[in-house]
Amino acid sequence: MKVLVAVKRVIDYNVKIRVKSDNTGVETANVKMSMNPFDEIAIEEAVRLKEAGTATELVAVSMGVTQSQETIRTALAMGADRGILVETDQELQPLAVAKLLKALVEREQPGLVIVGKQAIDDDSNQVGQMLAALLGWAQGTFASKLTIADGKAEVVREVDGGLETVSLAMPVVVTADLRLNTPRYASLPNIMKAKKKPIETLKADDLGVDVAPRLKTVKVVEPQKREAGIKVESVSELVDKLRNEAKVI
Ligand code: AMP
Repeated sequence: MKVLVAVKRVIDYNVKIRVKSDNTGVETANVKMSMNPFDEIAIEEAVRLKEAGTATELVAVSMGVTQSQETIRTALAMGADRGILVETDQELQPLAVAKLLKALVEREQPGLVIVGKQAIDDDSNQVGQMLAALLGWAQGTFASKLTIADGKAEVVREVDGGLETVSLAMPVVVTADLRLNTPRYASLPNIMKAKKKPIETLKADDLGVDVAPRLKTVKVVEPQKREAGIKVESVSELVDKLRNEAKVI
């Protein structure tokens, strides 16, 4: 079984995000970029499936600027066999990404697609669901466990207040949640080996996909600053403040 994994280049999760002065977006110039953390988990899961003999080939795909190649290289160093970059300078919204992935799925014919549950830059949580809908495939979202056997995928899903187990007929789209696994660090020898693995570069036009944005960002602003808290001396003072200052009781 071939597995396709989508890996997005995003601002590193340790970076303090700065909003652009004209409120059109966030600063990305000279900012450290990394693989979306949920996509690291997606790659790790695919590598484990390959190590277990369930998967035979692992293709890492990314869409975006030329530098997204680095994100694919990280996936290759973690264990992916080859990469595909759909190169574009245009802003890609989740529907465009899902359409590009659909076109790649039609070309590559994988039995399983794993994406992250959400990209930490746009926090959309849409691509996996849209892709499954476009393909007419089953979907196992927010996966915290994935077992593949007898043409079925059993996915344990993180739902509000507990876990839900679903059994899905393959092929499937799975979206990786935080507890699915702990991704490995790429070892130096594997980073060196990854340099020799192939990355194919395509344009959206090669796949016949219209990636024009459908949504317009009206404004991006910083979250309101929280005021500093205070320490109260006693429970009665706390109750007094809640009642008379905050007026919440
Ligand atoms: P989102 O729906 O935007 O929160 O993204 C969910 C998942 O879709 C991410 O974790 C990635 O696996 C995948 N994805 C989104 N955008 C891209 C992109 N430009 N390139 C590759 N994968 C992407």
